[in-house]
Amino acid sequence: MKREIIMIRGSTSLVVKSLIAVMCFLALTGSVRPTDLEQTRMSGEIVMITRNSPTTYYEDRSGVTGYEYELASAFADYLGVDLKVEVADNLSDIFTKLDKGQAAFAAAGLTVTDERKRWAYFSEPYLKVSEQVIYRRGGMRPKQVIDLANGQLVVSSDSSHSQRLLNLQSDEVPELTWSESPDLEVSDLLQMVSSGNIDFTIVDSNEFDVLKAYFPNLAVAFDLSEQQNIAWAFELSRDSSLHDAANEFFKQSETRDKLAALSERFYGHLDQLNYVGAKRFLRQTEKKLDRYKGDFQKAADKHEFDWRLLAAMGYQESHWNPRAKSFTGVRGLMMLTRNTAKELGIKNRLDAKQSIAGGGLYLSKLRKRIGAEVHEPDRTWMALAAYNVGLGHLRDARKLTKEMGGNPNLWLDVKDTLPLLSQKRYYRHTAHGYARGHEPVTYVQNIRRYYDVLVWQDEQQPVFLEEEQQVMLSSSLMTVIPPLL
Ligand code: GLU
Repeated sequence: MKREIIMIRGSTSLVVKSLIAVMCFLALTGSVRPTDLEQTRMSGEIVMITRNSPTTYYEDRSGVTGYEYELASAFADYLGVDLKVEVADNLSDIFTKLDKGQAAFAAAGLTVTDERKRWAYFSEPYLKVSEQVIYRRGGMRPKQVIDLANGQLVVSSDSSHSQRLLNLQSDEVPELTWSESPDLEVSDLLQMVSSGNIDFTIVDSNEFDVLKAYFPNLAVAFDLSEQQNIAWAFELSRDSSLHDAANEFFKQSETRDKLAALSERFYGHLDQLNYVGAKRFLRQTEKKLDRYKGDFQKAADKHEFDWRLLAAMGYQESHWNPRAKSFTGVRGLMMLTRNTAKELGIKNRLDAKQSIAGGGLYLSKLRKRIGAEVHEPDRTWMALAAYNVGLGHLRDARKLTKEMGGNPNLWLDVKDTLPLLSQKRYYRHTAHGYARGHEPVTYVQNIRRYYDVLVWQDEQQPVFLEEEQQVMLSSSLMTVIPPLL
């Protein structure tokens, strides 16, 4: 006993001596290694790794955006540094790059799992999602986990979903089988279920919320899990300074406000693509259109458009609301981005006259840039699509159309290709990456419908209808124009 005490004392004094020696050495050489946070501040830049998807990072008409990107930008601002974005090919690429120190953190809709906690520090969670089993309506509908064994189930490799299946297989349902692919993104998996190539997949609820509008024949069979935390991942072998800074960032009330705004912006408008009833449209034409008709006519004459097309576009953009503001920060009756307005010399985007003039000018510029090899009316439809999704993505779609044996000068062919830009096997080879390619197709389709109604209305003889007849007319129009989705 006595000896032991002596030994401990002896070793304690040895430790203290060594510590003093190290401290003296560090004080003399001044070589205390800066923390990761200090290094980041010194370099003026923080690198995030993410993936190109509708819930993380993508490009739209206002430039690059996405829930993760916007949140990470706020974090970079909080640190006082620039944000650099690295885009990984798939989930395992994210983890490899993080491990190699090619990024400071991963912000990619990552679920916090016990397995991942072994090699990563996770920040405070900022989103909760459930893992949902998706099936095709009219197809086999599984009711519980065991039913998944009756069909073909495919999930992304290295995902939290594949881990959940492994756990279920080893703990509860040994007969469970499934396939995995590293190259299939959520939209690819949904596409495969939708087209009948496979029976089921598993995706996060936020992802399904965003994408379900494009796959009306898909539905949630059941939730495979309780709500799961989504958080940023930091590599475990680094010091914890950046991770601690992220947690401080998440504690701030400004960040909580930011998170609420981001949820509203990315997940709160999910019915935005639904066709607004013809009845409402007709009511609005009576109430509002007269006010702006002169401005539409002026802009249309100047750029050789039919004024009713510009009016239809203005309705699709903002319902003729000069103070409209979208979740991506585009504003005004014709919903111009700040940069576009600047380029066009528009001073006040909220002024209806200026916005309409700017919208007409911008559409005309896009039409010119599309080139005369595309004949009318396709050239105008493509210009509209570019107004919605950006010229870069439209060009990608045209190139892809050609590669797939279609005619890049025909809207009919290009509109079939645009939605493919949301599928990884297509967008990974394009210049501008992931796009919500269904959106411009719906956008053009809606405008054409509104336009038809305006032309039809214009060509009617003014007839004074009783209130009851007006309602009948409106509802018959609603059946002629079926809902889009
Ligand atoms: N949350 C999933 C994960 O962390 C990724 C999303 C997906 O691939 O659906 O693995």
